[in-house]
Amino acid sequence: MIYSGDSLSVSMLDDGFAELVFDAKGSVNKFDRQTVSELDEATAALASHGGVKGVLVRSNKGAFIVGADITEFTSLFALPDEEVLTWVGNTSRVFDRFEDLPFPTVCAVNGFALGGGCEMALACDMRVADNTTRIGLPEVKLGLMPGFGGTVRLPRVIGSDNALEWMTTGRDRNGEKALKEGAVDAVVSADKLREAALAMLKDAAEGKLNWEARRAQKKAPLQLNKNESMMSFSTAAAMVAAQAGKHYPAPHMMVETVQKASTLDRDGALTLENQGFVKLAKTDAAKAQIGIFMADQLVKSKGKKQAKSATKDVKLNAVLGAGIMGGGIAYQSAVKGIPAVMKDINRDALDLGLKEAATILGKGMQRGKVDAAKMAATLNAITPTLEYSTLKDADMVIEAVVENPKVKGIVLKEVEDTVADDAIICSNTSTISINQLAESLEKPERFCGMHFFNPVHKMPLVEIIRGKDTSDDTIAAVVATTLKMGKTPIVVNDCPGFLVNRVLFPYFAGFGKLLLDGADFTAVDKVMEKVFGWPMGPAYLMDVVGIDTGDHAANVMAEGIPERMARLDNDPSTLMYKADRLGQKNGKGFYNYGVDKRGKPTKTAADEAYALINPVSAERKEFDKDEIIARLMIPMANEAIRCLEEGIVDSAAEADMALLYGLGFPPFRGGIFRYIETMGLANFVALADKYAHLGPIYQISDGVRDMAANGKSYFA
Ligand code: NAD
Repeated sequence: MIYSGDSLSVSMLDDGFAELVFDAKGSVNKFDRQTVSELDEATAALASHGGVKGVLVRSNKGAFIVGADITEFTSLFALPDEEVLTWVGNTSRVFDRFEDLPFPTVCAVNGFALGGGCEMALACDMRVADNTTRIGLPEVKLGLMPGFGGTVRLPRVIGSDNALEWMTTGRDRNGEKALKEGAVDAVVSADKLREAALAMLKDAAEGKLNWEARRAQKKAPLQLNKNESMMSFSTAAAMVAAQAGKHYPAPHMMVETVQKASTLDRDGALTLENQGFVKLAKTDAAKAQIGIFMADQLVKSKGKKQAKSATKDVKLNAVLGAGIMGGGIAYQSAVKGIPAVMKDINRDALDLGLKEAATILGKGMQRGKVDAAKMAATLNAITPTLEYSTLKDADMVIEAVVENPKVKGIVLKEVEDTVADDAIICSNTSTISINQLAESLEKPERFCGMHFFNPVHKMPLVEIIRGKDTSDDTIAAVVATTLKMGKTPIVVNDCPGFLVNRVLFPYFAGFGKLLLDGADFTAVDKVMEKVFGWPMGPAYLMDVVGIDTGDHAANVMAEGIPERMARLDNDPSTLMYKADRLGQKNGKGFYNYGVDKRGKPTKTAADEAYALINPVSAERKEFDKDEIIARLMIPMANEAIRCLEEGIVDSAAEADMALLYGLGFPPFRGGIFRYIETMGLANFVALADKYAHLGPIYQISDGVRDMAANGKSYFA
């Protein structure tokens, strides 16, 4: 052994070859600060050992190196710019010193080699992958770009076009794909990996492979003539502009950096990379996206822990109601291997539910993601029925009938009378209090909310609602089943609308009031989509959800939380509902929906909608974009704060993830709490106070006022 650390060690093999093995104690292999300094020490030991003919780099774990240690980023990036620059500069020089060792280096890449792991592999002269390899540079997903030489070496190894595609999308590759693109030099089976890499190293040392030329290519400017360069970078810039848009600075910075660095050697190019990295590390987008990563980790580990404690294994699901939601839930259950009985009172609804499942599977087949056998197996795993008795063997029942407390109460009682004593019963209600629904059950401890989002097969979130009598066993089993169904569970406590809809309706109320004060709904949609970054503005979202569904839910919310959610007089959505403008489902809402001559769907602001709103609203006027955003987002933020203060949700991080996964909150903003924090709590309080006269949804709690006054954070 010529070097031994906590994360890696170097030993001498026969014949003068050395082996550097990553094998972190008690953790996956990752580049935290300690590992980077161990790599530097190991490099120095290799350089000074004398007589080393070459070094094999590999991992002793199921994955090579998963990347940098993201948990270190928040405190690191809070340092002054110069210190972040020094850190990233020093770190990337460690990789350079390794690359400059005076003998060949070959990397054996197994499992994940992401971010810093991929950059370690690129610092070697050659790479061998195996059939478990996933290699890539996913930094863009954190609002960053590679910082340990990835933007310099990858373009010089696989060409700038391919490299920019890797980096700007963040997608990783398997070994075969990486081989085709030239990122690795061979792919072998996992059991042959070390042997193959060692053989390649020996060939290199014996001069059978020209490792010096490979290394020289990584250290020289990019081999592009002027025309090629112009074509390559303008295409990449256009692609990034179209796909990432203006809210995500990282992919733009990557194109700019690789382009500027293309005429420079390694050291010049790395200086540009270091500078670009620091600029990105300081953006709000990076802060938000790193926050999402950490929150996602929290949500995942909480879910796993809860699922582990489950004593009941759900093998058969039953879904009541074969509508939009019931059909989607039955499909999701079946496709993930839990057969589902789907009950309705209406034969046509059952047919529609099955047809919807077949349509989703058909689309999957077109994209090559589903084969005929999977399609048949999934459809066979859904049993449509009109009979309650078919439900009797179900381990779990998910009620998804119409959003009416009386109907739900009757249905839930019938379910309880049919199923086994230990079966779990859930409701997919979007707004009705779980405690209220539990009153119709004899055993409320086996009951909770299981709130899926529409469309079920696409939306990742399931909000699991704990009623006052719900048992821990029930929650654990529902969390475990949610995970099995491929969804992300977030457990919240009961209140009308739970977390996600409780914060959505004040946002809609802010929108309604803004229209009554003279705003044009198309202008509001435009600002909320283009400037704030929502996938849909509020008018369009209401049309998609269904104006009738939304109006009905708003009434339930008004009944549940009258002090803030009482309906507005002349609420535009109610006017629309009364005029049978139900949104996309009947082709007319705030917008009219149709198809153009070529069969493409169209969406045009409806004169009929203006005709309904104009007589009851103030004279039409333009609102500043900041005012539009404030008047919609303050109510949402206020309600989220109240949910946290009342213990409806456990943490700001979980609230952020719920809004991201359930509503499509713009990821570059990181969630509602991250949005408030980015603005600064004191600024948020001042802004809310400015609009407090508009009504209770704008009036902030004492809690947030105190936090702002004391300089506290929701993420502390
Ligand atoms: P839907 O109207 O599309 O479907 C309801 C189905 O329930 C209909 O097929 C109806 O025939 C059936 N039904 C009515 N009474 C029944 C009974 N006694 N037994 C069995 N089936 C019965 O409604 P949906 O949009 O699917 O909503 C269902 C539930 O899901 C509601 O509680 C709703 O609030 C909730 N939800 C809806 C959405 C959404 O975006 N649509 C999102 C989340 C949650």
